[in-house]
Amino acid sequence: MERQQAIVVDGKALANDIRSELANRVTELGRAGQRPPCLCVVLVGDDPASASYIKGKQRACTRIGFESVEHRLPANVRERDVLALIEGLNRDPEVDGILVQLPLPAGIRAEAIAEATDPAKDVDGLHPINAGRLLSGQPGLVPCTPLGIIEILKRHEIDMQGARAVVIGRSAIVGKPVGILLLQQHATVTFCHSRTRDLAAVTREADILVAAAGSARMVKGDWIKPGAAVIDVGVNPIDGVLVGDVDFDAAKDVAGLITPPRGGVGPMTITMLLCNTLRAYESRTNSS
Ligand code: NAD
Repeated sequence: MERQQAIVVDGKALANDIRSELANRVTELGRAGQRPPCLCVVLVGDDPASASYIKGKQRACTRIGFESVEHRLPANVRERDVLALIEGLNRDPEVDGILVQLPLPAGIRAEAIAEATDPAKDVDGLHPINAGRLLSGQPGLVPCTPLGIIEILKRHEIDMQGARAVVIGRSAIVGKPVGILLLQQHATVTFCHSRTRDLAAVTREADILVAAAGSARMVKGDWIKPGAAVIDVGVNPIDGVLVGDVDFDAAKDVAGLITPPRGGVGPMTITMLLCNTLRAYESRTNSS
């Protein structure tokens, strides 16, 4: 019998559904005489990829009626000046979410920026207080890409309870938090990283495989368990084209569900940023 090809996740369609729910919420707030949520994005330096990410995030905000404010700082700015800007945004009652686009130029520590951000406005979920809340199962702001991944799995009714989940990558922004969220969904989670031995043998056991290594097409078709749900987070520029961490053409013939290298996880990440901004707004203004 011929094997069916994997379901290819339409991240844009999922994202649009959630974004129209958010737009309705903004309309309701307006009717109730309340201001819309406001996201403030900070770009340090002139990295073109970062500038384009920031633009996409701002566009997503304005399309659903959120306020969006941008601050641009030169690459040679001192760390203490970035921290002073963040302190001002922390104090501004009209700012609900603060996002400093990563990566940062040399000399500016991402940890210092995360720690300076008010945890209640930390829509990237990187403040140690939010990371600690996630680990201890308390409510807090959670990084956007991991939230988007769980939403994709839920909306496709992937059974996470008792499933064997394998995460490739252990960063604070993707690998670790997505593993914790999968654990909260009662999956049996294995974290893999650059020093994992015989990675393919581990990934072949996965009912749910999340690839977040930043290594182009490293996950081959024969690394995947037939029928598995494969979430490809990687964004790797190869000859001017963005490719994922998964060899999509080979993997789609083995997996049961797969995210494409473009239009899969990315649109959901931005959408979860909008959700986090609304959450921050609602908990700060008690308007939920
Ligand atoms: P990172 O560099 O901080 O972490 C990569 C992790 O992968 C590390 O823990 C490392 O140990 C592991 N790793 C690297 N090479 C490996 C290998 N060959 N085998 C096994 N493990 C390996 O990266 P990150 O910030 O977590 O991002 C990962 C990827 O996801 C990048 O390509 C990034 O651009 C992409 N990303 C995409 C989105 C999105 O919305 N689509 C969001 C965030 C990150």
